[in-house]
Amino acid sequence: MRIDQLRQRLRAHGAKPEHEERLLRIWSQALALDSGKRRAEDFLPLALRNALPTIVADLAALAQVRSEHAGGDSALRLLVELADAHTVESVLLPRDGLCVSTQVGCAVGCTFCMTGRSGLLRQLSSGEIVAQVVLARTRRPVKKVVFMGMGEPAHNIDNVLEAIHLLGTAGAIGHKNLVFSTVGDRRVFERLPQQSVKPALALSLHTTDAALRQRLLPNAPRIDPAELVELGEEYARRTGYPIQYQWTLLDGVNDSEAEMDGIVRLLAGKYAMMNLIPYNSVDALDFRRPEHERARAMARSLHRRGILTKLRNSAGQDIDGGCGQLRARSAEVSAT
Ligand code: SF4
Repeated sequence: MRIDQLRQRLRAHGAKPEHEERLLRIWSQALALDSGKRRAEDFLPLALRNALPTIVADLAALAQVRSEHAGGDSALRLLVELADAHTVESVLLPRDGLCVSTQVGCAVGCTFCMTGRSGLLRQLSSGEIVAQVVLARTRRPVKKVVFMGMGEPAHNIDNVLEAIHLLGTAGAIGHKNLVFSTVGDRRVFERLPQQSVKPALALSLHTTDAALRQRLLPNAPRIDPAELVELGEEYARRTGYPIQYQWTLLDGVNDSEAEMDGIVRLLAGKYAMMNLIPYNSVDALDFRRPEHERARAMARSLHRRGILTKLRNSAGQDIDGGCGQLRARSAEVSAT
């Protein structure tokens, strides 16, 4: 169910705009139906009251938690089952953050990513994206949502923007706390500035070398890293939020001094933050994370050279963290 279909359904049962907004607020914030001064029964038209149990059941059936995996870093990884039995992952992050998936599988095919191996299986509807937030909110408060789980949000942009709009309005999440993460796609730079809820933007750069980027992200749009940074800068200046650059650190691949020089060349003076994320090694793939000392030295060096840099951990490393690894592990288990 897409959110526009849900709205149409509510209207078909006589919902006025204020009923629609209130019900969407109750759903997206995981509130009880009888929250507030008046119970739903007291304020809704009779036809809608009668239809409500079925609508509530349909919303609950959009996504259910199949399993939960707690990490030592207070991350909580949820394996979420959709109505057609496909599964995606959501990760509750420390400090009230949540990472959600936007597709089952992904077509970008990043060579270091487990999700990329399966290709795209299907898009998530806007309802299924918001349903992940609702499930997370039944467990912990959620004040920030990053669209960095399985999938490339730009490849499902209508559903992702519809979910962002709902979360930034009825869902009560600050606009800069909604983070659209992409490998870079022209549609993103065309559509995001037109939205009334403008999310913050994270760009997965991974290298400043165009040829290497093509090998690592084989199906990403061919936008030169320098142009990508220029497009990002324009959006950052327009919204007033810095661009979060994502750089998965791969030992011997993109951790050279030449890459550090490239980062300084592209990002010096830009309204940006560089996030270095040491790779979370997986048995099935040949990539390795650099030594911790090496990663720290790189972060320090970039910082000294004027690039705002953070060395991040991918949350939940001890719980099969990393894009699509929990889902891949669960598929392995079901297959044995
Ligand atoms: Fe897709 Fe992200 Fe995995 Fe790349 S890293 S294949 S964009 S899910």
